[in-house]
This record gives sequence, C-alpha cells and structure tokens, in this order.
Amino acid sequence: MTVHQSTMAADSDLLRRTPLFDQITFVGIGLINGSLARDVRRLGLARRLVATARNQGTLDQARALGLVDEATTDAVAAVRDAELVVIGVPVGASGEAAASVSAGLHPDAIVTDVGSVKARVIELVAPHLDMRRFVPGHPVAGTEESGPTAAVDRLFQGRWCILTPSDEVDPTVAERVAALWRAVGSKVERMDALHHDKVLAITSHLPHLLAFNIVNTADDLEGVLKAEVLKYAAGGFTDFTRIAASDPTMWRDVFLHNKPAVLEIVGRYIEDLVALQRAIRWDEADALSERFESARFIRREVVRAGQAYKRIPSVSMRRVDRAPVDAEPHGVPR
Ligand code: NAP
Repeated sequence: MTVHQSTMAADSDLLRRTPLFDQITFVGIGLINGSLARDVRRLGLARRLVATARNQGTLDQARALGLVDEATTDAVAAVRDAELVVIGVPVGASGEAAASVSAGLHPDAIVTDVGSVKARVIELVAPHLDMRRFVPGHPVAGTEESGPTAAVDRLFQGRWCILTPSDEVDPTVAERVAALWRAVGSKVERMDALHHDKVLAITSHLPHLLAFNIVNTADDLEGVLKAEVLKYAAGGFTDFTRIAASDPTMWRDVFLHNKPAVLEIVGRYIEDLVALQRAIRWDEADALSERFESARFIRREVVRAGQAYKRIPSVSMRRVDRAPVDAEPHGVPR
C-alpha cells in the first residue's frame, strides 16, 4: 500500500492568531469537533464558528460553553457561508451528515472529517460531495468521554493527525486542512485510506475490542467473584474499564465500518492468544518469558517514540477564551 511519508514540520507559532479560515462549520459538535472548536477559538484560527447537530440540546451546550458563535439544527443554513466544513459524527452517520449539508455548500467550500475509519467514510460521503474538495482526516487523539461538555483545550497538541486525500484532491486544498491541524499542535501525516484503516485496526480498534470484552467477561462472572473483581480492581483491570467506557455508538460504527482490517487482526490475535494459552498449559516458561520480554521492549519503543501520553486534565464545562481575530484569513477571499 502506498504511504506518502510527507510529514510536515509544525509551524504553529507562525500561524497563531492569524485566521486560516473565514467561517468553519462543525457538523456534529461532540468531543472531537468541540475540542477542535475550542482550539480554533482560543488561537483565533477562524473568524466565525458555526455548529449543526440533530439535537437542540447538543447545540445549546455548545453555545453555553462558547464553542461556537452560532448553532442551528438547520444543516443547510449552517454551511451556507462556510469556507471549511468539519464532519464529526459517528462514522456510520457520515453519509447522512454529508447529504444533510450538500445543498448548502458553496462550490469552493472544503469539507473534511475526523472519523476513526477512512475508506468506508470516503464511500459513504462520495455520492453527496465534490470529492475534489473532500480531505478525509483522523486526529489520533481522544478520551473516553463524549458530547460538547467533554471537549478540552489542546487535545491535539503533539498528536498525529492522519489525512487521506485521494489523488483527485487539489494539493492546495489538502494543505489548508493540514495547516489547521498543525496550527492546533498536531503532527500531520498523509496516508492511503486503506493503509490507515489497517494501521488503526491494530493500534486502536483491537485494544478497544479487547477492553470491551475483558470488562464484559468480568461482568459475566457470578456472585462473590464479581463483587471481588470490583473491590480489588487493580491497575490493569481499571485501565481496561476506562477504555471500555468509550462511546458505544462511536465504537459500534468503527467495528462495522472497518470490518476487513479488524477481522484480520482479531484472527491473528486469537492465534497468538492460543499460543500463550498452550505455553501456560505445558509450562513452557521460556516461551512465555520470550513473549513478555518482546512486549516490554515494544512498550519502551512506544515511550521513546513519544506516544505514551499523560491524561489531559479535564477542563470540561469551562467557557472557551476567545483570541482576538484581526488579521486576514489565509484562504482565497470568497
Ligand atoms: P461525540 O462526542 O459522541 O459527538 C458526536 C456528535 O455527532 C454529536 O454532536 C452528536 O450530536 C452528533 N451525532 C451523533 N449521532 C449522529 C447521527 N447519527 N447523525 C448525525 N449526527 C450525529 O463523538 P466524538 O467522540 O466527537 O466522535 C466524532 C467522530 O470522531 C467519530 O467519527 C469518531 O470515530 C471520531 N474520533 C473519535 C475519537 C474519540 O476518542 N472519541 C478520536 C478520534 C476520532 P447529536 O446527537 O445532537 O446529533
């Protein structure tokens, strides 16, 4: 699979307080779009922020938190003056979200998304968008919380954002989306969509599936044993419960829409698990030590690569401070 290794140097300081876009409209305003809105506002990266979602309650929260200037359930009206539209809904709803805004999009508007799966999202939105101006994206950052009140500042600082634009996307269009992510502190990488889905199946999707399953296995235990699992829940299990507390709808959609890559990696995982089971049964101490040593080495490599993060303290429910916006947007005037 082709991977375009075009990691771009972070130049966020140059971009701060200089709007990159006139209006950004968020379609869905939960953890990810809400956190992006917080940073865009704090850093003055857009002149005007608008949100649309299905429920008025979601929009009321976004407004109360000061995430956006305007919020409406009318998706067509929300995107009418948007220079950039960011779709941030469960991946299975991406097509529906694209369809809901397509009638209002300006021909020059750029559309991007933040979904955790890329190839299927591209298929779902394709009937509704000008794909020359659609830049699929995935900020590899998040927490187990959801909704606008879960949005935090600097969620994307130092984290990867993977963009998977097809060859038909004008490079200047992709670059404007990349510039936004760099401005909020992300490291941007371009990748083929199917390759992205394979990589994320192992680094993110499989660990979540294991966490959901381990917590449910514990929950299925009966009586005293179950009570003791909760009472003595130590490091490992507690970490799994945190991951397993992630949004059920979001994760249902991730697994349903990254099926081939997830099934392949689950198959390999089961083979490796059975090998461990066998090693335990037959007292194969060396085999166990070898597997655990190599896992320990990988942890050290992950830490060395700067990918072991401390949790971000929650600033949920705090109104966002707005940076003064007085310079011209970088974009072409519309
Ligand atoms: P979230 O906090 O649950 O927010 C989802 C937003 O989408 C809400 O505004 C919700 O508002 C709207 N929505 C929900 N269902 C919808 C539907 N069927 N049709 C249209 N709108 C819908 O979710 P999130 O964590 O921000 O995730 C958003 C996207 O980012 C997902 O595609 C996810 O895969 C991706 N992502 C998540 C993480 C993470 O750690 N959470 C990390 C990276 C990427 P209404 O219910 O009012 O419509």
